[in-house]
Amino acid sequence: MIRLETLFEFDDPTERLEELLPRIEPEVARILERAVAGYEIGEKEGIALSEAEGMELAALVATADHLRQKKVGDVITYVVCRNINFTNVCYVGCKFCAFSTGPNRPDAWDYSLDEVGRRAEEAWNLGATEICMQGGLPRGMSPYYYRDLLMAIKSRVPRIHIHAYSPMEITYGTELTRLPMEDYLTMLRDAGLDSIPGTAAEILDDDVRMVLSKNKVSVAQWYEVITTAHRVGIPTTSTMMYGHRENGGHWVRHMLFLRQIQKETRGITEFVPLGFVHQNTELYRQGLARPGPTPEENIRVHALARVLLNDFIANLQVSWVKMGRGMSQLCLRSGANDFGGTLMEESISRLAGSMEGQMLWPYEFRDLIREIGRVPAERSTTYKTLRSWPKECQRAAVSHQRSAGGGRTPTEFGGVSLNIRNKSALGSDLFS
Ligand code: SF4
Repeated sequence: MIRLETLFEFDDPTERLEELLPRIEPEVARILERAVAGYEIGEKEGIALSEAEGMELAALVATADHLRQKKVGDVITYVVCRNINFTNVCYVGCKFCAFSTGPNRPDAWDYSLDEVGRRAEEAWNLGATEICMQGGLPRGMSPYYYRDLLMAIKSRVPRIHIHAYSPMEITYGTELTRLPMEDYLTMLRDAGLDSIPGTAAEILDDDVRMVLSKNKVSVAQWYEVITTAHRVGIPTTSTMMYGHRENGGHWVRHMLFLRQIQKETRGITEFVPLGFVHQNTELYRQGLARPGPTPEENIRVHALARVLLNDFIANLQVSWVKMGRGMSQLCLRSGANDFGGTLMEESISRLAGSMEGQMLWPYEFRDLIREIGRVPAERSTTYKTLRSWPKECQRAAVSHQRSAGGGRTPTEFGGVSLNIRNKSALGSDLFS
């Protein structure tokens, strides 16, 4: 066992790699050398890396950091967005989900179209560029409800980017409307759907999926939604849930499957590993899963993703909601280059037992990024740089903060912390 800090005892990943490669198991060294030379790493090699421990894991981390630096440089991006989980009523019954509930339960919610539009407008006025919207799947939902939600948002804030609907929701929409997939997605696109989260992927292996959720879309259905979306011009992200009952082979095959899709369509904007939050889930209570990933697993998965996907999906996002700030920083030093979104309100991980809160302020992202010596930049959903704070500006920002007695804290905004409604009165630069 190696101490976690030992993995990060370097400033220059290339030098670190040169130092480590001669000292580690030759087979792992050979694979990492091939990765650095730009060769595609295959399944068997990937599985060997997924088992890396000790100095081999340190070398994997250095390789991933080196590849990240060469591919996307030292910038770490984030997006100012608001999550809207419009309902938590869902019939699907995924065993890993602590978010969904029944329609008659006291904790059930179901926002009106007007309320969703209002929240989107409020977010826009606070500086958000994206609405990230997903929800449960209620039985008897109005067939065109997903289209109507998009229209409710775009009628109030036409320029906000809507990143919405998992492949599970899209499939449900086609069942309700009886429209072919391509027609349904075209309709959503024309109503304002700008991109789709590649969630509901969990592990793209039907045997594992049958245990996690027997009612969920199959691998073939997930593939159909994602590739059809790309065909009609809607980009998607991609995700993987790890730390439950899967193994390293599943990680590798999942990532290679995404790599194959990307070769076919070039429609994936990023890959987001999502650690399983186990506390309040049936999957864990029934003994069907381990209690989420270990710290080493978090690091291994992110580093492995950089090595396997680098030339195909350049952007690798950490989920601060699942892992927390400190672990996210470590994963950003293990190949990742994106911090995700501010979210403003996040229900799914919180209800599963995550302690990481519902939002990060943009200045908190910037501080966390500077702490690890990297360059913060605000991006659009599709990775266009909107604003950046290069190193020269960072020095000025730090001295300004010092002279002002430290960084801003939420309490400086009139003691209002998470009541977004009240914040709107404070002006749009709140989220700058
Ligand atoms: S993960 Fe999504 S589809 Fe599954 S039960 Fe939860 S809300 Fe429903």
